[in-house]
Amino acid sequence: MSEAYFGEFGGMFVPEILMQALIELKDAYFCYKNDESFNSQLKDLLQNYVNRPSPLYFAKAMSENLGGAKIYLKREDLNHTGSHKINNVLGQALLAKKMGKKRLIAETGAGQHGVATATAAALLNMDCEIFMGKEDTIRQSLNVYRMNLLGAKVNAVESGTATLKDAVSETLKEWTRNIDNTHYVLGSVMGPHPFPTMIRDFQSIISKEIKEQILMLEGRLPDVVVACVGGGSNAIGAFYHFLEDLEVELVGCEGAGDGVDSPNSAATLSVGKVGIFHGMKSYFCQDQYGQIAPVECISAGLDYPGIGPEHAFLRDSGRAKYVPITDIQAVEAFEYLAKIEGIIPAIESAHALAYAIQIAPLMSKNHIIVVNLSGRGDKDCASIARYRGVNIYE
Ligand SMILES: *Cc1c(COP(=O)(O)O)cnc(C)c1O
Repeated sequence: MSEAYFGEFGGMFVPEILMQALIELKDAYFCYKNDESFNSQLKDLLQNYVNRPSPLYFAKAMSENLGGAKIYLKREDLNHTGSHKINNVLGQALLAKKMGKKRLIAETGAGQHGVATATAAALLNMDCEIFMGKEDTIRQSLNVYRMNLLGAKVNAVESGTATLKDAVSETLKEWTRNIDNTHYVLGSVMGPHPFPTMIRDFQSIISKEIKEQILMLEGRLPDVVVACVGGGSNAIGAFYHFLEDLEVELVGCEGAGDGVDSPNSAATLSVGKVGIFHGMKSYFCQDQYGQIAPVECISAGLDYPGIGPEHAFLRDSGRAKYVPITDIQAVEAFEYLAKIEGIIPAIESAHALAYAIQIAPLMSKNHIIVVNLSGRGDKDCASIARYRGVNIYE
């Protein structure tokens, strides 16, 4: 099935029992994708519930301060629930409802995707269960409370390192136990086909809007589009409608922790090797035996040892490039944007900002950089304060 691949990456590497569910999902998606009533319901929710289109904001003070290219911020942080995740979640939840599913399950790391999924389940009157690493339930107890408030049950996963990758594994297992009434709302452009394609399509509204907005504001395309990359959903969403515009440079920023030479960097494309995990062939951080390596960086949303297969393909084909950003660079960008523009970005998004801060001064004033501001940073304030040696109570 070549549609399941991006070059050599992607595929459907799952146990037989899940194949059936994936084929059902793929058939439903490719059918509803062109269904007028499905699309008009989704469009209505995106406008009136999510608050789309999100603004493309000219960061004037930041651009002047850096003294080079004009910087625009795509404000996904202004979406309901505070990040781009809701674009994908509403698409999948609506599809699940059309397929007659009664229950949504999802993995979550920091809790953003879990909160978005619990939100969609509440909105569409569906049951919801979230799987979250035990470590993360402690680090992000406020988000556990939010999910409960929205009516979802949160299961603490204790296997492995009790973090995001273990939560994904556990959710896949739970899906095999309840295929008939349950849909697994995957949170990024990863996992087996059709997830990477379907989630890319739901997130591609970001670049569709950027393109319209920048043509309106500047009468031309940007020179660079920058986004942070965990699994890669906000990045592919921001890149997609520019893939054919070869003059637009596409840059993904990975979480490098203490640096790509440090033991636990999450910069998959910088340090990873090709492998098969979580149903897909892609790049993964691995140890000397080919086991998935523990990863660590300041941003829970980028703390995943793999990357979506389309990014692996875009990197190897040279269409996009991927750069590592360290914790300290991201924290400085987080603080910088707060002070200069009055916008507190998600620490994930701060990785993309850090790259823009590096390159803008080297570019001329008639060049344009678009940074995808994937989410807002309220959730990160306590941990960044801790990073700076200040203890505040949440
Ligand atoms: C989850 C998350 C990310 C990382 O996920 P992608 O699939 O790589 O986009 C980035 N930013 C924010 C705000 C997130 O919540």
